[in-house]
Amino acid sequence: MSIEINQDGSLNDSREQHLAVKCPHCDVLSHITPVSTPDFNKLLRFKPSQVGLVYRCDSCNSPVFLKHAVKSYHTDYVSLSSHYIEIERPREKFSYNYLPEEIEGLFREALTCYSNNCFTAFAVMCQKTAQAVFADQGSMMRLRLFDQFTEARDMADIDENTFVLSKNIVFDTDTKIRLIRATEAAVLMELMKDLLYQAYVRKGKLQQAVMMRQFFISGDETTDTADDKEEDTVVLPTQES
Ligand SMILES: [Zn+2]
Repeated sequence: MSIEINQDGSLNDSREQHLAVKCPHCDVLSHITPVSTPDFNKLLRFKPSQVGLVYRCDSCNSPVFLKHAVKSYHTDYVSLSSHYIEIERPREKFSYNYLPEEIEGLFREALTCYSNNCFTAFAVMCQKTAQAVFADQGSMMRLRLFDQFTEARDMADIDENTFVLSKNIVFDTDTKIRLIRATEAAVLMELMKDLLYQAYVRKGKLQQAVMMRQFFISGDETTDTADDKEEDTVVLPTQES
């Protein structure tokens, strides 16, 4: 696979038809089209080890920025590595509606770290979030959450080393967090989301659903009674005649 910036600023990219990223603006896995390359003369003059290219998202038309390492400089073209770094990544989403304010704040910071590829910082914020959850929910709920955490490992078939790492980060407050890799952070993300779902979101949604159902049923009962009365008043005169 070759990517070259030509003297006239055009781009030769053998993967052009297949280049797709998850757009940080519209969140769609979309094909992206190159729209801007660095000034060729300045590239040859300064010879940076990495260059940025600007693409447009074909779904929402927003700019998408990718950074490529330079493989070699030539008089009429610059050769780039096909590997790239996405400068903006899609933000991780979570329904914060049912979370206490402090826990929401901590987990929002955790997701910001994750979205910016700061996986060790993400793990530290997950540990802080978990500590706040356990302080809020008490020791009995902590035990239940631990069981559910272990269940999630079996359901999602998570490998033992990654699971133990996540478990120590979340449940062992004395764990010194080492450098975390992207694949490990991805597992920790799903386990943390599940933990918060079990601790707050599931209960909150259930309570709200029951409350709404009861509200509408009591409304229906009132309406039914009113309807019955109306029918009576209509029916009675007809019977008399
Ligand atoms: Zn887009």
